[in-house]
Amino acid sequence: MPTEEKIKILVVDDRPENLLAIEGVLERPELSIITATSGNQALGLVLEHTFALVLLDVQMPGMDGFEVAELMRGSEKTRHIPIIFLTAISKEETHVFAGYEKGAVDYLFKPLDPLILRSKVNVFVELFRQRKNLQQRNGELSAAVAELEAVNRQIQEQQKSVIEEERLKVLLQMAGATAHELNQPLMILMGNIQLMEMDGNIPAHLADRVRKITEAANRISDTVKKIQTLRHDEPKTYAGGKTILNLDQHVSILAIEDKDEDFTNVEQTLRDHRELALTRVKSIEEAFNRLDKGHFDLVFLDYMLPDGTGLDFLEAINRKGMETPVVVITGQGDELIASRIIQAGAYDYLPKAKVSGRALLRIISNALEKAGLKREMRLAQEKLAEMSVRDELTGMYNRRYFREALEREVSGAQRYGHVLALCMIDLDHFKRVNDTHGHLCGDRVLQEFGRLLDDSIRKYDVGCRYGGEEFAVILPDTSLDEARALCDRFRERVNEHRFTFEDLSLHITTSVGVAALPTDGLITGRHLVDLADKALYQAKNQGRNLVVAI
Ligand code: GH3
Ligand code: MG
Ligand code: MG
Ligand code: MG
Repeated sequence: MPTEEKIKILVVDDRPENLLAIEGVLERPELSIITATSGNQALGLVLEHTFALVLLDVQMPGMDGFEVAELMRGSEKTRHIPIIFLTAISKEETHVFAGYEKGAVDYLFKPLDPLILRSKVNVFVELFRQRKNLQQRNGELSAAVAELEAVNRQIQEQQKSVIEEERLKVLLQMAGATAHELNQPLMILMGNIQLMEMDGNIPAHLADRVRKITEAANRISDTVKKIQTLRHDEPKTYAGGKTILNLDQHVSILAIEDKDEDFTNVEQTLRDHRELALTRVKSIEEAFNRLDKGHFDLVFLDYMLPDGTGLDFLEAINRKGMETPVVVITGQGDELIASRIIQAGAYDYLPKAKVSGRALLRIISNALEKAGLKREMRLAQEKLAEMSVRDELTGMYNRRYFREALEREVSGAQRYGHVLALCMIDLDHFKRVNDTHGHLCGDRVLQEFGRLLDDSIRKYDVGCRYGGEEFAVILPDTSLDEARALCDRFRERVNEHRFTFEDLSLHITTSVGVAALPTDGLITGRHLVDLADKALYQAKNQGRNLVVAI
């Protein structure tokens, strides 16, 4: 054991042979015994070292033991050091020490009994050790508390900035969606202006108005472009501390709390807020029974519950895909757990000791605000996805757009008696590409295939990724024979193409089914797809790398 960790004991006696004898009795590896032969020397040493105990001879020339003790009591550093007086005077005279701090002093009578000496010293050494441990634990605890407070502040700041970020994202996405929606009518407007200008016969009195309309359309177009180039994921830091939600609406809260007094505390704290309806359950199982039956705006969650912990509850609620916001109200000292719980998806936490009207209302309004924003964001995302018309991988039109375009084209063609063809195109044995070279390679091939297809069709044909490795093309004003010829040229082009991925060069073939209007009766786009699919099926059955038209 290094010297600095040894427990120090000071032995003071004017007779060196006594010091030697005591040292002999007390000697142990974990003790460091320091000796002094006078009161003065002892006083110097107690200021210099930290002693667990002082063994102090009473009768010494010059300053005696009592005087040393009195002086030690006068100094902050030394007044708590326990003293054992070594004395030859009788017990009756020990009243001298009365008034000295209780427990900090003891005495032993000379001649010293080694056993008693050792056991008394042990008692003080043990006390010292425990006190030291306690101090160390205290230090560690304060450090942990400080760290938790910092984490706590950080979580609160993060939550605030998350709210702001999400609000911003929603706004930007909404703006993006609006810009997208504006685009089409704008294109029609601008296209028609161009047509009018190309006609070249705009009457003079209208020319100025047309110019103004053109300017306005250009301005709208610029604005749309600006919105579309805004980045949606720009992080913004939180800049204020406003309360966001007004709690006038009715809010139903499910409180999961097994302890009556803890629930009563929350209930009492909120009793003046009639808009807050609290329902109490005592376990996780009961909580899910309630949540399955009816809607709650918010959950108050205790950590220690009879059938699991708060973390178990959060995991379950995430697994079930439930969106109800959860706020953790933990017992005292549970902050570490609470920060884990926040990571698991809880919206906020509050130590039970800090439950107050203001704190609860703040937490309720923050959680509801955040939940509302999350919901809005999800809706905005769904709306955006719904509005998107392009397939992500190939950039071709997606199936949703294809369906709309097909119905439009088919009914238009039938109405005006035009011809129209539909091709369903499927890569042959594409699964092997994935299986042999990996999914990423498969994706590349699909991209390249999409480019080839796009390059093989006319501007007003509608080429889509129908799903997986299947593509569809609507060919307006195209007869079945023309379509067959076009598809066969494309099939041959694929057959001759080398698809590259890293250092691979792959040969791929494709099968195509073609169907066309006019047919025997009036049909829908859906029926035309069925027909083309049937043709594709035949192409596959007849050996692939083929075009079949029906
Ligand atoms: P067949 O000649 O009969 O069409 O055989 P096939 O292997 O091409 O057809 P199958 O329908 O059995 O398999 C299609 C494969 O396409 C399975 C699927 O993993 C793969 N696939 C679908 N979509 C994608 C995609 O987006 N990327 C990749 N890499 N593979 C895809
Ligand atoms: Mg509990
Ligand atoms: Mg295939
Ligand atoms: Mg397929």
